[in-house]
Amino acid sequence: MFNQYNLEEIRDRARASFIGMAIGDALGATVEFMTASEITAKYGTFRDIIGGGWLRLKPGQVTDDTEMALCIGRAIIKNQGWSLEAVADNFAAWLKSRPVDCGDTCRKGIRAYMLKRQLESPPNEWDAGNGAAMRILPAALFSFPDGELLKKYILEQAHLTHNNPVSDAACLCLGQLLHMTLCGVGKSQLRRTADGLVARFPTFAFVPYRGLATGYIVDTMQTVFHWFFRGKCFEECLVGTVNQGADADTTGAICGMLAGAYYGMDAIPRRWIKKMDAKVITEIELQVERLITASPMGKMM
Ligand code: MN
Ligand code: MN
Repeated sequence: MFNQYNLEEIRDRARASFIGMAIGDALGATVEFMTASEITAKYGTFRDIIGGGWLRLKPGQVTDDTEMALCIGRAIIKNQGWSLEAVADNFAAWLKSRPVDCGDTCRKGIRAYMLKRQLESPPNEWDAGNGAAMRILPAALFSFPDGELLKKYILEQAHLTHNNPVSDAACLCLGQLLHMTLCGVGKSQLRRTADGLVARFPTFAFVPYRGLATGYIVDTMQTVFHWFFRGKCFEECLVGTVNQGADADTTGAICGMLAGAYYGMDAIPRRWIKKMDAKVITEIELQVERLITASPMGKMM
């Protein structure tokens, strides 16, 4: 099914996906919580990594979205396999390190683990934020191309903080889309998978696009789908997404992982990569290498 050539292409897509996620985070964070019209008034079209924003970031600095994903990757690598406790321990260590930002639902779940070793948040109809979806990439890479492992890892890590059917559905669909893009699947087939999510959960319908990009996972996914399917290149997908404002770092991170995997490393603008925090990029490259090598795909080779 796969050969050495595929493995090289998959590594390239995986790198582009992880770096694309970090770029979307760093780019979007500048305009997080702004409205689309405030962004237009201030920047015209916002398209450069300049830092600032409500978190007063350095140019290229990433936020909780990328940091939590790196926590999951670190846990897998250090544990040489999947361990939910290791993921939770890394989230706890990260929270204690006073991160630049942390969502309320994430904080609540991590605290419950620290206080009572809780590994699964109780089901909650209000916990439909995008915090579980934004960090799934290492789980998608480490499970590639096994769909059952993908499901297990994605839902387990999600439920540490978010236990909600709408969040679960989005996480699973996103994970599936990531596996497909790593294989080089075209947009019409990806679109059918997104439409499948909409068929099961009509709330995710993104045509006509409502223009909402809040931290509610439904708004997040609508924005990501709208701009990913309409964009003609990596840059267009990301610029469209973050210019919607609101939870722009997270919509940017999610669109960045999909568009990165879809278009590959050559499509990522140099000027964006150059602006990124070099330490983060180094850790991402190391993690991608190890996660893919340890994945079912890597073991086949
Ligand atoms: Mn963030
Ligand atoms: Mn955010």
